[in-house]
Amino acid sequence: MDAATEKLREVFGFDGFRPGQEEIVRAAMAGEDVLAIMPTGGGKSLCYQLPALLRGGITVVISPLIALMRGQVAQMRELGIAARSLNSANDDGENALAIQEAEAGELRLLYLSPERLARPGTVAMLRRVGVTAIAVDEAHCVSQWGHDFRPEYRAIGGVREQLDGVQVLAFTATADALTREDIEGRLFPAPPHVFLRGFDRPNISLAMTPRANGRKQLLDFLKAHRGESGIVYCQSRRRVEETAAFLMSEGVDAAAYHAGFPPNDRNAVQDRFLREDGVVVVATVAFGMGIDKPDVRFVFHMDLPKNIEGYYQEIGRAGRDGLPAAAHGLYGMGEVRQYRQWIDEGDAPDEQKRIERGKLATLVAFCEALTCRRVTLLRYFGEEAGSCGNCDLCRGEVETVEGTVEAQKALSAMVRTRERFGMEHLIAVLRGDRTEGVTRHGHDDLPTFGVGADVTKANWRSIFRQLDAGGLAQVLPDEFNRWAVTEAGWKVLKGEETVTLRKPSRTKSSERTARAPVDTSGADEAVLAALKALRVGLAKERNVPAYVIFPDRTLIEMATALPRDREALGQIHGVGGRKLESFGEAFLDKIRSVAGTSA
Ligand code: ADP
Repeated sequence: MDAATEKLREVFGFDGFRPGQEEIVRAAMAGEDVLAIMPTGGGKSLCYQLPALLRGGITVVISPLIALMRGQVAQMRELGIAARSLNSANDDGENALAIQEAEAGELRLLYLSPERLARPGTVAMLRRVGVTAIAVDEAHCVSQWGHDFRPEYRAIGGVREQLDGVQVLAFTATADALTREDIEGRLFPAPPHVFLRGFDRPNISLAMTPRANGRKQLLDFLKAHRGESGIVYCQSRRRVEETAAFLMSEGVDAAAYHAGFPPNDRNAVQDRFLREDGVVVVATVAFGMGIDKPDVRFVFHMDLPKNIEGYYQEIGRAGRDGLPAAAHGLYGMGEVRQYRQWIDEGDAPDEQKRIERGKLATLVAFCEALTCRRVTLLRYFGEEAGSCGNCDLCRGEVETVEGTVEAQKALSAMVRTRERFGMEHLIAVLRGDRTEGVTRHGHDDLPTFGVGADVTKANWRSIFRQLDAGGLAQVLPDEFNRWAVTEAGWKVLKGEETVTLRKPSRTKSSERTARAPVDTSGADEAVLAALKALRVGLAKERNVPAYVIFPDRTLIEMATALPRDREALGQIHGVGGRKLESFGEAFLDKIRSVAGTSA
């Protein structure tokens, strides 16, 4: 066993590397510049933490959020790794201690915000203490093509030069080609060694449902996930507050989070989420980047996410521990229209608007997809995969029907009204509703008038979305949202192509979906409960999140294997030397006493 594998076991308590980690660690140890693109939860942190442990000098870690830094430093210190952070949320004593330890050569990892890094005093200090590498977490923040652009990240390249071109290790979960090129150009003087790891997160089940009664759909979903920690994302602050209030009134242990709340309140919510089991945080996407919690069991999107990258990053916050987790989203055409309007009215350059419109179209196509969601998703990230068996489409929860005639009716309504009207007007024509607009334009005389009276409004809307998603019709980017037939749509009108549509929903489906509880079947329930209680106590005492003591998976394995001595305990996933030292006896005692009595 070589030094890296040994440290992995001894310090982190892991049996082996996850896919991709080993190559990255080796390249880092060899002094190469590295750009690693790995999905959220893939284990990026280890790729710089382990080399930092194995080498002399300090590895500086640039991280965009103070909460994220603090979580990691707490975790590192529990593992016995000399890590500190330098940031504005620390008191002066903590920051002085960090500098003192750095200067004494005791530190291995020093976490810094990008603002702090760029300060002249910091650079001078780093030159004095000797930096082995700069690790850049969430490296897509350097790119304005990414969705979390942070201008301060642009200073990293300059600092690197001031530190005599020290090694840079950059990590991100954002994979699209533009962002990647931008990161390469801005952080590295010469092309780095790029590692692109598989994006599949097979343990996360995927589902997307058209919004019918959003709150009821959410509640049904939460019923199937009672007692689990999860995040409900909403698109606006107001939606966050309303949804959280609704859930609390329904007896759900929910808390609201958005950037408009005072920092103290936000920290309190975040702390509760990290420390307690089963808290549901209702939040805008402001919540998440700083959340390093491995046992989030679900992510529910009340509203359509902004784009596929955002969506993937958000759902990636679930199931980092590799245990089953669920990602369920709702979507409606209203949001699609609204996002389109935001893009059109925004002041971004035309080129960027074009890119954003394209991203939105991809997202809508993903929502309305009729084949495996994971295949669609992974293809977006440049990966080919087979059907996953773990999404609503693979599970057969979305039924399809032959829909050529309906598609022809809708397309013909567009053509007959000279492609000058929006969806609601077209639906009124199809259903034979004599609205003021329909009569004023004389559209009640059209041959198409009333040909779709047998289809409900809601189902027509869904058909329109699918025509859009399928590229058969398009909404013209002007203020009227006029619908026009595309070339592919004309083929359908002429009868040259057929169309498959979703079977009209009678809702309900969300009740069946995405039931994926963590498998604790082999575990002794009494022991597991006792170990969880012990963990909460230890976490409180030390003022750290529960998973910093041990993650769920470790407790489940303990409650299954019921180790009686330190050696057996040391074999369990996540139990490294330092943790064995700190917590071994307490957990063994608990196992011995509870398993002893219940057996
Ligand atoms: P990322 O930053 O890529 O989203 P993290 O670095 O936070 O992911 O790692 C996600 C989880 O996986 C953490 O709980 C971490 O302890 C765990 N982990 C990382 N590497 C391994 C490994 N080799 N074996 C087992 N668990 C691992």
